[in-house]
This record gives sequence, structure tokens and C-alpha cells, in this order.
Amino acid sequence: MSVIVYVDSFSGSIAKNGFEAVNYASKLGDVIAVTAGNASDDVLAALGKYGAKKVLKDTSVTSNDPQQLTRLIAKAVEANGATTVVVSHDLNGKAIAPRLSARLKAGLVAGAISLPDGDKVKVNVFSGKAFGFVTVKSDKKIISLLPNSMKPVAEGSDCAVEAFDGEAGNTGYIIKATKKPEGAIPLPEAELVVSGGRGLKGPENWGIIEDLANVLGAATACSRPVADIGWRPHHEHVGQTGVAIRPNLYIAAGISGAIQHLAGVNGSKVIVVINTDPEAPFFKAADYGIVGDAFEVLPRLTEAVKKFKA
Ligand code: FAD
Repeated sequence: MSVIVYVDSFSGSIAKNGFEAVNYASKLGDVIAVTAGNASDDVLAALGKYGAKKVLKDTSVTSNDPQQLTRLIAKAVEANGATTVVVSHDLNGKAIAPRLSARLKAGLVAGAISLPDGDKVKVNVFSGKAFGFVTVKSDKKIISLLPNSMKPVAEGSDCAVEAFDGEAGNTGYIIKATKKPEGAIPLPEAELVVSGGRGLKGPENWGIIEDLANVLGAATACSRPVADIGWRPHHEHVGQTGVAIRPNLYIAAGISGAIQHLAGVNGSKVIVVINTDPEAPFFKAADYGIVGDAFEVLPRLTEAVKKFKA
């Protein structure tokens, strides 16, 4: 049975959640990975190590237009007689999965966190506060896999990459691509994350977040209002409407811990909260809580890590 997996490679490389989706799907059937853009065949062939039998590459689709990508994936499903599609439950996947579900008249499992048990799939519900089990009755199903639900393991070898015409057409969407700064650790893949909220008072104070992130080798993140006001770029915003992360360590300074924020970070293994307000809701979700001023605590943590590493 063929399983189609959409893998984002517009940056020229494949992110961890792409390998993860392929690895997950390889437990369900023969994986055919579908990509768009111009990533090199060498880069794409590496999907074989994670379980893809082959990669179909459509170079005519050049941006993350969810409508074009939906058409491309639907065409691949039709061409290969596939009944299951797996995408990552990231910003692109969230835009593609429901469109694909409507187009293919396929049941949708959104935010899967484990492999199907019989016909039931475990998902995150209520912003990660509870689990649910979704049973899909339709012949076809779409599964969007929550990033970091499983660790991708490279077991096989490179696979073939074939040109594919997904007949995606042009939808008139203009998608603006912004390049991330060189050397920055991609947030969705980071094992360590240092994050700041409105308690940091202004963008000029972000040096204390960056200093700690630098000594730890961590990515930086922020709450949504911080990105909305323009203190930090939107790709750093974590939460229900931002990036969902599951790092080993999440340090949150000056963030209240609203449920919409927690939705994107409560899969973190260890959460450290720094807040001046002992009643801040985030402390209930924290493994370690520091009631204190971020402007004093963060520099002291940075110094402590430096000493520890020396
Ligand atoms: P605040 O709520 O203003 O909290 C600031 C915190 O800093 C306070 O707890 C304060 O005690 C503390 N503080 C102040 N000074 C200091 C200091 N010197 N040192 C230490 N601590 C200090 N939010 C997200 O983050 N992500 C989302 O994806 C998201 N999606 C949303 C979706 C919807 C539909 C809605 C309605 C809201 C969403 N929100 C989201 C917003 C969310 O509800 C909160 O408003 C937001 O998370 C609050 O951000 P904050 O904690 O940075 O700011």
C-alpha cells in the first residue's frame, strides 16, 4: 500500500519534521515522498534513509502556496493509488491537510502523536491539555503528524528521485519568502529554547535572552504579543497560532503562561519559568519555577552556564 508524504524542501534542505513524517509513514506502507521546488536530488535522496521508496519532485511549484501544494499532492495520490497521506502538522501542513481532506473526500486526523492503533489514531486535543482518539471511516485518510512526536531514525539507504508533474497550475497567490539569519538554530528542531514575553519590556532588552541562548546553544523564541508588536520576528512566535515545539528544555522569561502559549510548548521535556508574579499561570506547567526579575535572573543563569562550561 502506497503512502504519500509531503516534505517541504523549499529552503534547499529538509527539516527534521520532514524526516519524521517519512519515518512515521514508513510504518504504515510504502512511502512515496512528494516535494516541490529545487532542492538537489542528493538532498532529497536522503529521505530513503528514513523509509521513502522514492521521491517525486515537482520543480514547477516554487513557493509554499497551499492550494498548489494540495493539487500536487492530490495528483500524486491519484497517480499512485494511495489511500493515506501524511504531512507534518506545521504551519504548511495545517494549511494543506484540510484542503486535501476536502479535495480527496478523505478523513482528517489533525495533530497525530502516535501510530494508528487498529483504525484509531491518538491526537492532541484542547491545546495539548488532553488526548483524543480519532477513527477514520472513509477509504482515504490524511494524517498531520505533530512535530517531535517521534525521533526519526535513519536505517535505509538513499532512494531514487523522479521528476513529477503535479499539474498544480497557478493560483494567483503571492507568497513572500523571508530568509532566516545564517547560523540561527531552526526553532522547530531545537533541543534547547530560551523564550521571552512582554515582561522583557522591549526589543532592546533581548540581549539577555540571546546571551543565555548563545551559551547554551539554544534557539530563541517569544510569545505572540511580542511578535505582534514587532519586537521579534513572527517565525519565533510559539503557541497555538505559532510554532509548536517539543524541546528537551524550554526556558520562559516574562511570559504569563496563557493557554494559547502553553499549547505550543507543553510538550517540552523540562520547562523552566522565570516570572516576578508568583501567581503567574505558567508556574503550574513548570518543572522548575524561579520567582524573580528576568533582568537579574537571566544574566546570572548565563554566567552560571559559562562557569560550568569553563
Ligand atoms: P503578558 O500576558 O503581558 O505577561 C507578561 C508576564 O511577564 C507576566 O506574567 C508578568 O508577571 C511577567 N513579568 C513582568 N515583568 C517581569 C520581569 N521583569 N521579569 C520576569 N517576569 C516579568 N500567545 C502566545 O504566546 N502564542 C500563541 O500562539 C497565541 N495564540 C493566541 C490565539 C488566540 C485565539 C488568542 C485569543 C490569544 C493567543 N495568544 C497567544 C495570546 C495569549 O492569550 C496571551 O495574551 C499571551 O501569550 C501573553 O503574552 P505574554 O505572556 O508575553 O504577556
